[in-house]
Amino acid sequence: IGRHGGQRTTAGFEYNGVSFGDNSVNLFAGLCAVDSLESVDAMMAALARCGINTTRMGAYKPRTNPYEFQGLGAKCLPWVFDSAGKHGIKVVAMEVTHPRHIDEINDALKKSGAPTGVMLQVGTRNAQNFELLKQIGQQHAFPVLFKRGMGITLEESLNACEYVASEGNPKIVFCLRGVKTHLGDPHRNMVDFAHVPVVRRLTRMPVCVDPSHAIGRAEAPPDGLPDIFHAIGQGLIAGASMVLVDFHPTPEKALCDGPQALRLEQLGALQRYTNIVRAAY
Ligand code: PEP
Repeated sequence: IGRHGGQRTTAGFEYNGVSFGDNSVNLFAGLCAVDSLESVDAMMAALARCGINTTRMGAYKPRTNPYEFQGLGAKCLPWVFDSAGKHGIKVVAMEVTHPRHIDEINDALKKSGAPTGVMLQVGTRNAQNFELLKQIGQQHAFPVLFKRGMGITLEESLNACEYVASEGNPKIVFCLRGVKTHLGDPHRNMVDFAHVPVVRRLTRMPVCVDPSHAIGRAEAPPDGLPDIFHAIGQGLIAGASMVLVDFHPTPEKALCDGPQALRLEQLGALQRYTNIVRAAY
């Protein structure tokens, strides 16, 4: 990741026609958890209308409670890739929690034939799952979105990325998504986007922010923008070049993290907001 003399990332990289870590912002707006073909298609169509060609889609969901929706897994991959192909989506960020998920994704991509790429996401709960990190590092086909561990030091999270890089996969984006504290918080997590410049100083990885998991609620003050927008502003001003943000066609019906999902009608406003903030700084 650009330290300790290990395998170096470039300051940015290109994957499937999308540049990461340059002066533009990669907006990965999408479904935290895929729940139906209709949701996938509505999301992808909204992205295409805005000219956005990157998204997030959760198929394998690591849930705190085993009785809650665990994601549709391999079953929903054809919906995701067929719809991505139809709407010109070039990169889908997707969390994997087990090495066999990488094979399932590869198989589904081949079967679909869509010219879509996948960015493998390592979730905060697997930030120190070293065997998973090594397996992800050994595959060189997909770039990686690594989410910082919510209860470990930044240094420990950076070392975890080194596990991926040292196995030969240097295409890593480091994602800040808030951290747990013992203080309680009006938000789901303590927003840690002031660490963006720290990661950029210490490593060569492009930095992503995930305001949805950091804030955890899509609400806005009566006369203002949602807290999620403000957190995105903080992240972009601090130097993030990628944003991961949850949307859903009907957040009240979402099977996972509905309260933090923005509505599809807010996508255009979010895109304008990110462009304005990025242009100003
Ligand atoms: C997610 O992005 O879907 C997710 C579960 O995030 P995190 O690992 O940051 O909790």
